[in-house]
Amino acid sequence: MNIVLLGPPGAGKGTVAALLKKELDVPHISTGDIFRENIKNGTELGRKVEAIMASGGLVPDDVTCEMVRDRLGKDDTSNGYILDGFPRTIAQAEALSTIDDIDYVLNFVLDEEEIVRRLSGRRLCKSTGRIYHIVTNPPKKEGIDDETGEPLIQRDDDKPEAIRHRLEVYKASTEPLIGYYKDKGLLVDIDASVSPEDVLASIIKAVGR
Ligand code: AMP
Repeated sequence: MNIVLLGPPGAGKGTVAALLKKELDVPHISTGDIFRENIKNGTELGRKVEAIMASGGLVPDDVTCEMVRDRLGKDDTSNGYILDGFPRTIAQAEALSTIDDIDYVLNFVLDEEEIVRRLSGRRLCKSTGRIYHIVTNPPKKEGIDDETGEPLIQRDDDKPEAIRHRLEVYKASTEPLIGYYKDKGLLVDIDASVSPEDVLASIIKAVGR
């Protein structure tokens, strides 16, 4: 089953994808995670995208699409996958349609006030990508990952100026995908204001598993 998770930054796509991938036994492919991995490893791609990402802008479509085409060509995608953070523009959606058929586009719905609250409190463990929230999902020890003991970080693009920019980018470039996929009959709205476990339950129901 090929699934796309659509929705504003901070709607919980990454958190829910980590649960959903266990349920469906398919890989979770997050373009943001792949870019962050490249930055961490100092690759050429990482150097190319670092400043764009820190500002909250979008990496150019050609760079992103090539990376996704490559990733979807790997063997572990043969039973399906969860795409998180891709596509983010109509051009990316058109490119995806030349790579594969998508079964469901799950549209995470959440109001703006809650998005800002979630993003500004988000912290993560750099090496594992594990996500926390300082109020709703704090680590056992403040600022420290529960399992690795490493200090938690705040993403540069979760700082106030970048959050504002990411929301503008989302509205201008990504929101039009809601209509695009609705017209194709693939869109399912998911209430993202509830707990990750409840979001997961509504997804399982929606995809008939
Ligand atoms: P995310 O982890 O999905 O919030 O993505 C973090 C950042 O990575 C975004 O703000 C963009 O700078 C970049 N990025 C991730 N996915 C894409 C994409 N599909 N197209 C362009 N840029 C992306």
